Amino acid sequence: MPDLRQRFFIEDSPVRGEVVHLEDALQTILAQRDYAPAIKILLGEMLSATALLASTLKIKGRISLQIQAAGTFKWGMAECNHLGEVRALADYEEDPHFTQATDSSTVLQTLVNPVLFINIEPEFGERYQGIVPLDKPTLAGCLMQYYDLSAQIPTRIVLASSQQRSGGILIQLLPRNSEEEQKRVDEDLWPRLTMLTETLKAEELTNLEANEILYRLYNEEDVRLPEAEILKFGCTCSKQRCADALIQIGAAAVRETLESQNPIGMDCQFCNSHYEFTAEEALGLFGEHLS
Ligand SMILES: [Zn+2]
Repeated sequence: MPDLRQRFFIEDSPVRGEVVHLEDALQTILAQRDYAPAIKILLGEMLSATALLASTLKIKGRISLQIQAAGTFKWGMAECNHLGEVRALADYEEDPHFTQATDSSTVLQTLVNPVLFINIEPEFGERYQGIVPLDKPTLAGCLMQYYDLSAQIPTRIVLASSQQRSGGILIQLLPRNSEEEQKRVDEDLWPRLTMLTETLKAEELTNLEANEILYRLYNEEDVRLPEAEILKFGCTCSKQRCADALIQIGAAAVRETLESQNPIGMDCQFCNSHYEFTAEEALGLFGEHLS
């Protein structure tokens, strides 16, 4: 099954949604580190969630979810941009919970003082950061609470991941414009759709094609499907970004690093790409020359 995001609309209603499926991209990401099983599942769910959230934005740029905590789990992040490129990474110490568990909730329960950040970085314009309390047993539950409280857009999200495949579905009840408010509305539509959505089983979400999922759930409704969007693994690292990072740490720190490491080597944690800066290149960033 291809990695994709399928948006859908219930005709003549303010309900929209989307289904995502990740397989190749997830496996590429998980193969880059030796992750424990429960961490793989959590990263899979975080990836599905960012791919869903990215589609709710009307911007060029990227959105990321980042969990930070004290305790054995340090942090995890997943990102999706407007091109459908996803990447993810986690850092944690060994913990038997992570090796034995077969779900992400176990990881969430071990988190000490956890915070979930939603970062939105438009290509142009201001960045936004939302902070979500991680006080529900599932990632989907935390995100739904965020939408209900912050965006005040009724939203249902179901996420599921195995160590090979992840999937997610999101449906939203959008605010109606004045013209739409004039129309007669099916008051039962939203409760009916949310109830149906919640009947979806984890293995259906990870193993079935998007169209099959939508058919099983909403075959009584008039569902419109635009063309599916491709999702893929993609990393935004570059030598220029590494150069920016060196400029950020400053000339003094770069000179000090060069004493023990010349050329300076930098590895991208997301894709294992390796970048090197000779002393001349590194100092050149600050307009300095080798003396
Ligand atoms: Zn990279």
